[in-house]
Amino acid sequence: MRLILLGPPGAGKGTQAHKLVQRHGIVQLSTGEMLRAAVAAETAVGLKVKDIMASGGLVPDEVVVGIISDRIEQPDAKAGFILDGFPRTVPQAQALDELLKKKHLKLDAVVELRVNESALLDRVEARVAQMRERGEEVRIDDTPEVLSKRLASYRAQTEPLVHYYSEKRKLVTIDGMMSIEQVSHQIEHVLKALSASAAEKAAAKARKAAKKPSGKAAKAAPGKAAKSKTPTAKPPKKAAKSTKKAGKTVKKASKATKSAPKGARKAAKGVKKATGRMAVAARKRPSTAKSGRAAKAARNPARKSTKKVTKGRANTAKRLTKRR
Ligand code: AMP
Repeated sequence: MRLILLGPPGAGKGTQAHKLVQRHGIVQLSTGEMLRAAVAAETAVGLKVKDIMASGGLVPDEVVVGIISDRIEQPDAKAGFILDGFPRTVPQAQALDELLKKKHLKLDAVVELRVNESALLDRVEARVAQMRERGEEVRIDDTPEVLSKRLASYRAQTEPLVHYYSEKRKLVTIDGMMSIEQVSHQIEHVLKALSASAAEKAAAKARKAAKKPSGKAAKAAPGKAAKSKTPTAKPPKKAAKSTKKAGKTVKKASKATKSAPKGARKAAKGVKKATGRMAVAARKRPSTAKSGRAAKAARNPARKSTKKVTKGRANTAKRLTKRR
């Protein structure tokens, strides 16, 4: 399984990534953590990015893309990974697409944790207090001033990824304001639905292949049959083999669909239905602002109204100014 966790600082990406690691045995690849380790070890990369990170800016794309490209190659990432904090810009997302294509890997989903900005400051403050209690070193970028810069950079450079992945039909938005357990439950639900729908797709593809002899087999069949002396010649071995193979795949795929939990199969149907409705809505009125909002709302049920988000941002700004 290969996932991206998307969300502003304090949205809970790290916490959810840890849970996914425990449950699915995949690795968490956090560019923030890797960069902090490089800074602590005073490597060449660490020295280059130290000041940028301390001020809440973004490290150059080529640095993080290089780090991720190397990390994906490691044996522990073969079973799957969760990208946390990467990609953070559209060029990084494009570089990741290229990278995965070259390595013949597929991204399963992008999980966006949508949160109310006014809650983020409280969350980050709580994180700082907990770290102090545990005697851990506090991150130098976890201050109200730097947080406001990190939020601004999230809005300007990372939020466009919501649209980027939604266009690619990879985006799943989850309400990050729920409790940690509820968010985690929702993520699991979505992942089950995705795997059930993938199994259904594979079964349908295999059924189709079993009905129609493959192109190679179809081409081989008439030629060889024509050469045969009797009109009732047996199907050529190649064609028969291919049909048998397709039959086996159908069996395997439908078994996978059946073995998926009942709830997940139901959810997969829901995902399929919703996707169909979204496509229809988008086709019907693509140019009106209303249809744009409706399509966004259908795709992202957790999305708050623009008004609420703007209000949240104004409140955060006010609170940050007060604290300073
Ligand atoms: P995080 O732990 O994800 O909040 O990241 C901490 C800091 O590391 C960020 O504020 C950036 O300075 C830097 N950073 C982490 N990931 C990236 C990335 N994908 N692109 C650019 N800078 C990054």
